Amino acid sequence: MTDEKAQTQEFKLDPDCELRFEVESKNEKVMLELKSGLAEVFGTELVKGKKYEFIAGAKVAVFTWQGCTVELVGKTDVSYVAKETPMGLYLNCHAAMERLREAAEKEDTRGPITMVVGPCDVGKSTLCRLLLNYAVRMGRRPIFVDLDVGQGHIAIPGTVGALLVERPSNVVDGFSQQAPLVFHFGHKSPQANVALYNLLVTRLAEVCSDRLQANKKARVSGIVINTCGWVKGDGYKLLTHAAQAFEVDAILVLDQERLYNELVRDMPDFVKVVFLPKSGGVVERSQAQRTEARDQGVREYFYGSRTPLYPHSFEVKWNEARLYKIGAPVLPASCMPLGMKAEDNLTKLVAVTPGPNLLHHLLSVSFADSPEDDVVQTNVAGFVCVTNVDVDRQTFTVLSPQPRPLPNTVLLLSDIQFMDSH
Ligand code: ADP
Repeated sequence: MTDEKAQTQEFKLDPDCELRFEVESKNEKVMLELKSGLAEVFGTELVKGKKYEFIAGAKVAVFTWQGCTVELVGKTDVSYVAKETPMGLYLNCHAAMERLREAAEKEDTRGPITMVVGPCDVGKSTLCRLLLNYAVRMGRRPIFVDLDVGQGHIAIPGTVGALLVERPSNVVDGFSQQAPLVFHFGHKSPQANVALYNLLVTRLAEVCSDRLQANKKARVSGIVINTCGWVKGDGYKLLTHAAQAFEVDAILVLDQERLYNELVRDMPDFVKVVFLPKSGGVVERSQAQRTEARDQGVREYFYGSRTPLYPHSFEVKWNEARLYKIGAPVLPASCMPLGMKAEDNLTKLVAVTPGPNLLHHLLSVSFADSPEDDVVQTNVAGFVCVTNVDVDRQTFTVLSPQPRPLPNTVLLLSDIQFMDSH
């Protein structure tokens, strides 16, 4: 299965087979080229003769319905052809969703809202990508919602967001991140603040519903929702809350029968719960790989991937920064002002005093004009990262995709840190 020496490998794939490969070694690059036939990567068709470049961390499947020949140039750590895949079942899901879209089109109603759930590393994101790609390839314009705050694919870690998908994802880089709708959560697991997580999910569902109302094409196409791999105990409650908030029509459960049975038991009858096997190709990630994937996401936000971006760096005076975080420590109910629940503290805007504690932290730049607005439920414009704190001069330096913002911009502190090594 491993072939560390090979530099150029050619694979002839029979119909319904897939070539799986991984690039692991740092600084290694692997070129993929479709030589003949038809093939796709997670639902995006490959262009014959075009070279696709993958770097370390890539775990890829090239699937063909019709048969094809592909070539890999460069050092892959794993490369093999699999004949058994769940692609037929996944295609059936797409076909069922497409029938609902056709019905929605005729009756001028809403298309399918589908949520994908399952434990970590079962291919949830990949299945979302596939379903979205198949939908756009049919001329649909679905909304992609990502509720996975740790390993999500919209914006950067520590956020939840939504994206109108207008073209298939890029084979290498995923979906185009033009004008996503993003909310600041600030932690890499929903566990860190369940009350805030649920509040943001509810808000995101409202905004998405408004967008569907306003855009017939999107309305007919529906929504595909990716979720976190935390599926037990309180994690399960988050899933059922999200299902309710988005008024989902279908839940696709990957790999876990227990979760499937729980959802069948707890969901109302009109929600279709479907069990799907995971693909044998999905690769489990270690804790270190998860951290690296998160860092990679942030790095790409500031520096780009294939097309390099050149971020700005500037100083902010401590006394000019309008810095906040969401969530104060929960006080015992007896200490709360009359009429407030202890939980309310978790979703409160709290001023943060700048200091060395900011170093390497990500800050979300809010669209809110002032802290008096509902900052918590306002989406964010982008992110900066604190790269230096100067205690003597009472300033901190940030890395930012944009030149210096207005001095009264509201910034939200994230728990998540990023070491800028450029
Ligand atoms: P989850 O969202 O459940 O955590 P992902 O969809 O992110 O899982 O998949 C985990 C990793 O496995 C990703 O790097 C993805 O590219 C890879 N992967 C998914 N399906 C396949 C496949 N059929 N062959 C090879 N790699 C795959």
